[in-house]
Formats: sequence, structure tokens, C-alpha cells
Amino acid sequence: MTGTRTQVVWDYAPAPESPDHVRLRDSYGLFIGGEFRDPVDGERVPTINPATEESVAEIAFAGPQDVRAAVEAARAAQPRWAGLSGLERGKYLFRVARLIQERARELAVVESMDGGKPVRESRDVDVPLAAAHFFHYAGWADKLSYGVGGREVAPLGVAAQIVPWNFPLLMAAWKLAPALACGNTAVLKPAETTPLTALLLAEICQEAELPEGVVSIIPGDGSTGATLVRDPDIDKVAFTGSTSVGKDIQAALAGRGVSLTLELGGKSANVVFEDAALDQAVEGIVNGIFFNQGHVCCAGSRLLIQESVADVVVGKLWERMGRLRVGDPLDKNTDVGAINSREQLERIEELVDAGEGEGAQRRTVACELPDRGFWYAPTIFTEVAPAHRIAVEEIFGPVVSVLTFRTQAEAIDKANNSAYGLAAGIWTDKGAKAFEVASALQAGVVWQNTYNHFDPSAAFGGYKESGFGREGGPAGLRPYLRIA
Ligand code: NAD
Repeated sequence: MTGTRTQVVWDYAPAPESPDHVRLRDSYGLFIGGEFRDPVDGERVPTINPATEESVAEIAFAGPQDVRAAVEAARAAQPRWAGLSGLERGKYLFRVARLIQERARELAVVESMDGGKPVRESRDVDVPLAAAHFFHYAGWADKLSYGVGGREVAPLGVAAQIVPWNFPLLMAAWKLAPALACGNTAVLKPAETTPLTALLLAEICQEAELPEGVVSIIPGDGSTGATLVRDPDIDKVAFTGSTSVGKDIQAALAGRGVSLTLELGGKSANVVFEDAALDQAVEGIVNGIFFNQGHVCCAGSRLLIQESVADVVVGKLWERMGRLRVGDPLDKNTDVGAINSREQLERIEELVDAGEGEGAQRRTVACELPDRGFWYAPTIFTEVAPAHRIAVEEIFGPVVSVLTFRTQAEAIDKANNSAYGLAAGIWTDKGAKAFEVASALQAGVVWQNTYNHFDPSAAFGGYKESGFGREGGPAGLRPYLRIA
């Protein structure tokens, strides 16, 4: 069903961010060995703006020979890169970080055009955090052994890195910064629907005069990724994406002695206790599930509310959802932008239909959506049972499933009742309760009275089917080092 939109108190005049300053090329090659090249056996495909369904640029996808060439370039560059002092490697990373800051406005606009996320988020979250990751690991480059308890360290060699479409530039920074700081070279494959900011990052690597071959960036689809992880000359795979592809990669690497880290999906619990500051909690719930259209691996998609306050919280949340502004990602007022692709939209629709079919109560905010592009209005499900698909599977869209609990023990049991374990939120006024619950939750990150708060110095990663290995902070050095 579709509810009436709560009256919006203020009407905003449009505040579009202009794309005029963006200098995109019509066509991008593969970035291999420090230069943009035509693909040898790949193809060229358009990358689409999901808010308009129009092509933004043409992109080269790497074929098997192109993947080989990128790995060869990385292999050839690795000994010299590892031979530089940590201080020198750090200087390159500082330079990349500063160039990201210099081109921040352009990167933010391109991220929103290519992926559909609100420019307010790409401007205030994705791009500054990408720069912050390079700054952070630039600082570690000459202090590596301090990050691992004073032990002797060496780089692994050539890292194959595969990232998804939800935070394209930020995930590239999460992958490249620690790998390079540790003396590895890298071949990065962006996701098929969002290659553009990674290619701008390739230009930044050129501007920073990074030695050729230290970073190669080869867009492509799943087949390019599958070829890359099967290359016989890689030492490390770092993958962020779905659990099913993570399992496929793990099987492909079995017995090969290639180091692996997996950052996979999630169905994270956001737990609201009756003693929480409820208005603050509602803001956190909104940020937890509607940030980036819910295309967030750690999204608070399972909302667990203590029964005594469930009606009040759902009422406040529904009212707040009615004030979310859905539409043009380049408008600075927009809270919820476009769904990243038609396939993702279809997946959201399929799971929402399943939720209704299994008997949960659905409410979707009534709002005007643009005629073209891929859109999904904010949606809440109540009367959800733990076995419903919408309580079990990752929807990866602006859809929250509400479950209730009576006691702290029940909250912990329900929160842990998932194959995933990426993140969780706890809303309570009681510090002791927050610590007790946090230590009982099987989740890599637990936020207290906040949600989706990221910092390059904090480790991020999963339990169970959400993967293994950590990114961020000193813990993020370990997956890229041989430790004596
Ligand atoms: P996906 O697994 O389909 O794709 C991720 C990347 O893997 C893409 O670059 C894709 O081209 C590539 N790929 C696809 N098939 C491959 C194969 N067989 N071998 C190698 N590479 C292959 O995931 P997606 O739909 O793009 O991204 C959404 C998923 O990513 C969600 O499940 C989300 O939770 C997860 N994610 C996790 C984190 C985290 O840190 N844990 C962060 C962001 C996203």
C-alpha cells in the first residue's frame, strides 16, 4: 500500500549543483602501466546516469589479455615500489590525497552522475573520506611495523582489488591506500555501473607522478573480475561485494596460497531500547537505512524496537520518512537519489513483493518520482517475522523491516539471528547496557547512539557471511603485509 505523504513544512527551491565544471572525456581507455590504453581484447560500453538513463561516457572493459597486461605491469613495478623508503611512498600517497581534495567538487558531481547518490552525500562523505583514507595510510607508510606490534614486515606483492558500485571512489581508496602504503602494487577493477571516479583517480595517479604500473585500473564486469582473481601471478585478492561472488572467489583461490580478504553483504540490526532518546534514534534510523538509498553494506535494515515504544518510534519514523526529499541526485536538497541500476531496482521490487506476499505490512511514502531513471520511494515494513525474506536477505535499497523485542536477551538473540554480521546500532541512554549488548553482538562494527559513522582510523569488516579481514586503521595494514 502507499500512504499519504506527510505535509512537508518547508518547500525548498531547487538547488542544483552544476555539472558545467566537470571535464569528462567522451571515452576512457584502460589505465595500465601509467597510461590510458585501448583494450586489446575487451570492448567499449557506455556508462549510464541512473537518474536520466543517459550515457555519461564510453568506457573500455578489460578482456583477458588486458587483465594479463595489467598484472604484468604491476609485477614489473613492484620491486622498485617496495624498495622506496616508507617516507617516499608516503609522499606519493599524501600527493594523491591532496589532489583528491583539489578535485573534490568534480569528483562529487561525477560520483552522483554515474551512481545516482545525492551530491550532498558524495560531497560531504564519499570524497572527503576517500582523501582521508589516503592521508591516513600515507602516515602509516613509514611506521608499518608499529602497526603490527613491532614485528618485521614485508609487502605481499601484487594485489588484485575488486570493488562494488555503492561507494565507488571511497571503496577504491579503502583498497589502494593501505596496499600502496605497505609496498604492494595494485590492479583495481571498479564495478561495471560506476567506473568513472576510479578513472578520474587514475588521472590523479598520473598527476601525482606515481611510478608507472604501481596502480592499474581496469573497468569491466564480473567476467573481468573472475579473470583477474584467477591470474596466476597475483599474491593477494581484496574483494568487496556480494556474499555469493565472495564465495566463488574463495573457491577459485583454494589451495593457491593467495592471501584473501572479503568484505561482503550484511543485514545489520539497529536496536532501539525503550530508554533511548527516541527523536535522536529516529534520525539515526533514517541515516542507517536511507543514506545512499540503502545501498550500504552495513545499512541498518533490520530495525529492532523494544515493544513498549514500538508504536511511538514507528509513528515518528513514518512522519520523518514523509519529509525525505526523493529525486535529482544533483540537487543539494535531495536526501534519497536514484537507484543505481535497473537490475538493482528489480531486485528491490522482487523482495518488497515477497515481503507483502509473506504477510508483512508495507507502507511506502507517496512522492512524485521523475519519469525517467530508476527510483524507489522510502518504504517501511511492520509485522515482520524473523523468517520472512525481508528480515533475512539483503535488500540493498531504501526499505526497512521492523521487528520487536521485549527483553535485552531477546534483542541480542534476534540481532544475532542472521547469517551476516557486519554492523549493528544500539540506542540507549545507559552506557553499561550499550557495552553489555555490544559485546554480545556478532558484528564487526557496533555504533552506539549513532549509525553509519565512518573514520579511516577505525577498523571495518565482518563476522560470519559478511566476510573476513579488516579495512581501516592499523588493522587494515595486516591484510597487505607478510609479518615475520
Ligand atoms: P557483486 O558481488 O555483484 O559485485 C561486486 C564486484 O565484483 C563488481 O566489481 C563486479 O563486477 C565483481 N564481480 C562480479 N562477479 C564476479 C566474479 N565472479 N568474480 C570476480 N568479480 C566479480 O556486488 P554488487 O551488487 O556490485 O555490490 C553490492 C554488494 O556489495 C552487497 O552485497 C553489499 O553488501 C556488498 N558491499 C559490502 C561492503 C563491505 O564493506 N562489506 C561494502 C560495500 C558493498
